[in-house]
Amino acid sequence: MDWKIKKVAVIGAGVMGSGIAAHFANVGIPSYLLDIVPKELTEEETRKGLTLEHPQVRNRLALKAKEGLPKAKPALLYVPDNVDLITPGNIEDHLSVLSEVDWIIEVVVENLAVKQQLFEKIEKIWKPGIIVSSNTSGVSINSMSEGRSKEFREHFLGTHFFNPVRYMKLLEVIPCTDTKPELLQFMVDFGERVLGKGVVVCKDTVNFIANRIGTYGLMVTVQEMVNASLGVDDVDAITGPVMGRPKSATFRTLDIVGLDTFVHVATNCHDNVTDADEKATFVIPDFMKEMVTRKWLGEKTKQGFYKKE
Ligand code: NAD
Repeated sequence: MDWKIKKVAVIGAGVMGSGIAAHFANVGIPSYLLDIVPKELTEEETRKGLTLEHPQVRNRLALKAKEGLPKAKPALLYVPDNVDLITPGNIEDHLSVLSEVDWIIEVVVENLAVKQQLFEKIEKIWKPGIIVSSNTSGVSINSMSEGRSKEFREHFLGTHFFNPVRYMKLLEVIPCTDTKPELLQFMVDFGERVLGKGVVVCKDTVNFIANRIGTYGLMVTVQEMVNASLGVDDVDAITGPVMGRPKSATFRTLDIVGLDTFVHVATNCHDNVTDADEKATFVIPDFMKEMVTRKWLGEKTKQGFYKKE
């Protein structure tokens, strides 16, 4: 097979999907950025007299994500005009584009059932030769492609970008048991040569490599904070610049990641590790659950451990 990537479909226009589409634009690769159709009108849409069928509403999530890219601080696009390489839309009206692209990358919520349903839908439109991957933080690549044909799985793998995509060098690539070895090699080369990443091939273990270590570190830090009656500021003062991490102290990182996503990632670890002590580390503290209930998710809702101006 002569693998190539000239056009991509990014499914999920949240924190990571928009960052991934921006990264593709930065290296000159056009992409579709697709999300679900909103089920409710916002107050502003109601005030403007729009209906759920209006294109501005049907495409709202992807349009907003695209709009946000040139405005992000620091800008996620090297050249703001590169945003034209991104075509936003909703998945329902754009299913046919999935058979026109060379790579479909799934970047939706960290939930096995949602991802499995999406791949089932994608397979109906998919054609041999199209690469399909997941940006999951740690859900099993084999489990999410369960029930798909062998031919589809030969084209399937995990491609785990880190946040923010523009700045984080690491790209984990995770084959499933059927991934064609030459596709794995192609993605490693493409990730390094074209996307400028440092690629690490991982086994399909719980949360792969970086997140298994990173999530553990974050959870232990949170527990130590509670045990030592420290505050968020204290912990960030200790785990930020003095440790050589100018912008990524513990809670600032969690605000960038998104509390809802972090809870899914830590819960995936909790549910799938076998060692009892390790399992205990991944128990989500009540205050984090409460923050998710209140939608204090971090930068994406403008309120997390910190308030975003
Ligand atoms: P997010 O909540 O910011 O965005 C998810 C988007 O997916 C939302 O816009 C939602 O509307 C959309 N969506 C949900 N179901 C969909 C469907 N069926 N079809 C199309 N769109 C759908 O989440 P995120 O932080 O961007 O995370 C996305 C994925 O990337 C997750 O698997 C996560 O674990 C992984 N990831 C996240 C980070 C991070 O730092 N946030 C880092 C690396 C990997």
